[in-house]
Amino acid sequence: KYLDTTTSSLSSHSTAANHDSSAVIDLDHGDPTMYERYWQQMGDKTSIVISGWQSISYFSDVKNLCWFLESEFATAVVRLHKLVGNVVTEGHHIVVGTGSTQLFQAVLYALCPTNATEPISVVSAAPFYSSYPLMTDFLKSGLFKWGGDAHKFSKEKPYIELVTSPNNPDGSSRQPVVNRNEGILVHDLAYYWPQYTPISFAANHDIMLFTVSKSTGHAGIRIGWALVKDQDVAKRMTEFIVLNTIGVSKDSQLRAAKILNAVADSIDDNPKGTETFFQYGYNLMEMRWNQLRAAVNKSRLFSLPNFSSGTCTFTSRSFEPLPAFAWLKCEAGIEDCESFLREHKILTRGGKHFGVSSEYVRISMLDRDEKFDHFTQRLSKINS
Ligand code: PMP
Repeated sequence: KYLDTTTSSLSSHSTAANHDSSAVIDLDHGDPTMYERYWQQMGDKTSIVISGWQSISYFSDVKNLCWFLESEFATAVVRLHKLVGNVVTEGHHIVVGTGSTQLFQAVLYALCPTNATEPISVVSAAPFYSSYPLMTDFLKSGLFKWGGDAHKFSKEKPYIELVTSPNNPDGSSRQPVVNRNEGILVHDLAYYWPQYTPISFAANHDIMLFTVSKSTGHAGIRIGWALVKDQDVAKRMTEFIVLNTIGVSKDSQLRAAKILNAVADSIDDNPKGTETFFQYGYNLMEMRWNQLRAAVNKSRLFSLPNFSSGTCTFTSRSFEPLPAFAWLKCEAGIEDCESFLREHKILTRGGKHFGVSSEYVRISMLDRDEKFDHFTQRLSKINS
């Protein structure tokens, strides 16, 4: 359970495929395979050819503060944010990372004062993304230390608060909760895209993290980007990545650029009636959430969060959030929801990993159709 992707998933692909009741359905991790079908339909639109002589140098753009950032990738990031209107890119430096996971570690390093006498506390409001505490404390750094639930943080000391919006695991829209002068905020906006939530404003925070894993579904490419206002912070993040991996795969950046541009093209050259990438994602998420809510109503043993609708500036429509994870609560006195569902051969991640009670579990909504259908069918039949 170290990261969002666990090796336990490897065994489950074949088992969940055949709808028999003994098959294990693994929805523990957030593997975004739901998007495979869309990209299959796009055929060669996102294919690239990279010859042996290309991507040889360590360097991409020596004039850029982040010298391993491929300019094609940077241009694609800015283009897509402008079209979607979810973020203000002006006034920000772009730092590319091997997934936003590497950028998370780079940002902690970059924000820590070098002369502090004790590690700075890193906090996030519970339920928080289960990888935050693990990634923060893994190397027992002397610079920073996991400080737990931001709601309970009472030290009169500097701190870093992670604001994840929409939140993993519960899909809520979030604001900082500690609100003290000594605080530094990091906004993890991995899910701030219109298939998951109405885009209500263009975010313009000091440090914002994004990833192709959740925006386009390409978790395996391992590309994320940070938008950072402060030049020194961006420089120190770059320094971390240089010491950690001497840059970020050029091949991956070029592939990510091609994919982000294909998403942007689907919006830009959209003759009436054709589906954009985000419409495709939204339609599928809406169908899945309806299907899940129907299964939960039928079973009567569980509950799900309710969301109020908001107007999306990108689609000009009002809709309710459709989070990438279902934050399911076991009712009727079932205290350990993860174990209860495991008895029914449904693998989920229990509330304790997210800093809350084990009555809750997190379930991925982004797996392949067949597994998701199988899951909702099985859940609707659990009644004792
Ligand atoms: N932040 C959040 C909130 C996430 O849910 C995830 C993926 N589960 C990540 C960061 C990490 O993404 P990446 O694959 O880019 O490392």
